[in-house]
Amino acid sequence: MIPIEEMTPSDAEGVRYILMDIDDTLTREGRLMDASYQALWDLHRAGLKLVPVTGRSAGWCDLIAREWPVDGVIGENGALAFWEERDNRPLLRQDFHPGAVRNNHPVLERIRRRVLEEVPGARAAKDQFARLFDLAVDFAEEEPVLSLDAAEKIRLIAEAEGARAKVSSIHVNIWMGAYDKLSMAEHFLSGRFGWRRGAGDREIVFVGDSPNDEPMFARFPLACAVANVRRYAALIKHWPAFAASRECGEGFAEIAAALLGKRAPRAPI
Ligand SMILES: [Mg+2]
Repeated sequence: MIPIEEMTPSDAEGVRYILMDIDDTLTREGRLMDASYQALWDLHRAGLKLVPVTGRSAGWCDLIAREWPVDGVIGENGALAFWEERDNRPLLRQDFHPGAVRNNHPVLERIRRRVLEEVPGARAAKDQFARLFDLAVDFAEEEPVLSLDAAEKIRLIAEAEGARAKVSSIHVNIWMGAYDKLSMAEHFLSGRFGWRRGAGDREIVFVGDSPNDEPMFARFPLACAVANVRRYAALIKHWPAFAASRECGEGFAEIAAALLGKRAPRAPI
């Protein structure tokens, strides 16, 4: 990773889409930070398309798509995309990945039982009731905060049972379908905005913080991380090109300011 200040002006000029993780990328200790929310508005007003890409639930995504200054949101690690059309009255659109499998699947129930029995302190995330497709096991959102080794043990149980699993900064997300944050992000951007794979790769800046962001780090040449990504040095194989010097939402704001500062001024929208 190199400092975000070293992004070239021509790369910054070519960016059209800002994709970002939410937990510990825009938030710190579970709170959306003033610096990151202001940065979202600054990027939006500069005409960039904003799309949070998160492991958070369908229920959260409904709120984000309707209330935040964004052009869509991808949730449950790629199971769904929600966006609002605002041509006249606001109209919420919902797209579900064709490979998404509802979370009442018996394998997920077996995994849930095994995790609760075999990993002391593990519990279902409190936003589980608002999820359609994944099982979220909380290891660090609330007390007791478990180790990353415990999170890895949960992931390995899920994979041994035939599910997919990713470790975020707070949850282990577990699901049955063949999708991830990356596949749904590409599907959404091409369908909604006509983004083209390959030719459009450098139009995307993705910002994340943890191992469940790795498919995005590996895929996009202008991917960035906030400084807290270094907590996961032992778990990450594919690092992004750029890093902020600051953590969480302050790191996101640093990336936004660097990007906007390198672009020619435009009339605000
Ligand atoms: Mg995160």
